Amino acid sequence: MEDQMTMSHADLVNDLRWKKFPVLNDGFVCLVDCMGDDAAVVQAARVSYGEGTKRVSDDRTLIRYLMRHRHTTPFEMAELKFLVRVPMDCWRQWIRHRTASVNEYSARYSVAIDSTQATAPGEWRTQAEQNRQGSGAPLPDDVGRQLSEDEHHFQVTARQVYQKRLEAGVAREQARKDLALSTYTEAYWKIDLHNLLHFLALRMDPHAQKEIRDYSTAIGENIVKPLFPIVWEAFADYRLGGLFLSRLEIIVMQRLMARSRAPGAPFWTESDFLAVQDESWRSLSR
Ligand SMILES: Cc1cc2nc3c(=O)[nH]c(=O)nc-3n(C[C@H](O)[C@H](O)[C@H](O)COP(=O)(O)OP(=O)(O)OC[C@H]3O[C@@H](n4cnc5c(N)ncnc54)[C@H](O)[C@@H]3O)c2cc1C
Repeated sequence: MEDQMTMSHADLVNDLRWKKFPVLNDGFVCLVDCMGDDAAVVQAARVSYGEGTKRVSDDRTLIRYLMRHRHTTPFEMAELKFLVRVPMDCWRQWIRHRTASVNEYSARYSVAIDSTQATAPGEWRTQAEQNRQGSGAPLPDDVGRQLSEDEHHFQVTARQVYQKRLEAGVAREQARKDLALSTYTEAYWKIDLHNLLHFLALRMDPHAQKEIRDYSTAIGENIVKPLFPIVWEAFADYRLGGLFLSRLEIIVMQRLMARSRAPGAPFWTESDFLAVQDESWRSLSR
């Protein structure tokens, strides 16, 4: 198979299209279509200068500038469409992102998808002590085994009740009401790159629930990263791995630096900063 690094963007899109990246026990994300690439972002940003320079290093600098300074509209010029298969509880968080276009499997029209998200014995997590919304350490295996058994029993029973209702002639729209929240749904999900990156920044973050983090990481790492390598690099540096400091935090850091300074020693200079910069930044103008 040709290396992704050497493929043209069109070949890469074709290579990725309909490729299912598995998530959880029976979920997946897959790319359906993609409009635009790194160059589309650059082209939009340079609209006033025509096509502008083609030098990759310039494009990289420009994209990093846009990302850093939150000049967001050029990122809206690219769009991606996905097909996703997600358990309903996770989908409930996903669908809060209003800036996407969605078309979901209808369990009024069709029989609900016969698959539920199963939790393996080692995957049950305790309630986090500090973060009221989050999870802590895994539960012991013997407890997990019992919980997984109970889960399986509950999911099977819920499905049987649903099937019985259908067999009794109940409408699908009403019969579904007691299906387990772990039942999978499927949807087409189309979103521009700017809003997708916003989704990824929120949902790849350690504060997001693990299950949606698994989905967003699958989208980010397997699809967005290879299709938009320069945008992804900037996103990883300025959003995913970046840090916002409040005014108060900056003041604290300034005071700490001042206190740690030996009497008479100069503050760090620009050449000190340049001497310790990452190798991959050297080609970037500042
Ligand atoms: C860790 C985490 C915990 C969360 N906990 C909760 C919770 O406890 N309860 C809860 O209800 N939700 C919770 N949420 C959901 C969260 O509040 C947002 O609804 C969700 O992340 C979508 O973000 P968004 O509105 O920025 O995204 P999008 O809907 O994609 O919107 C993108 C941006 O467009 C703009 N925008 C979109 N629609 C409007 C509008 N109608 N008016 C003004 N501006 C708009 C905003 O600038 C917005 O940031 C949580 C999210 C995360 C990541």
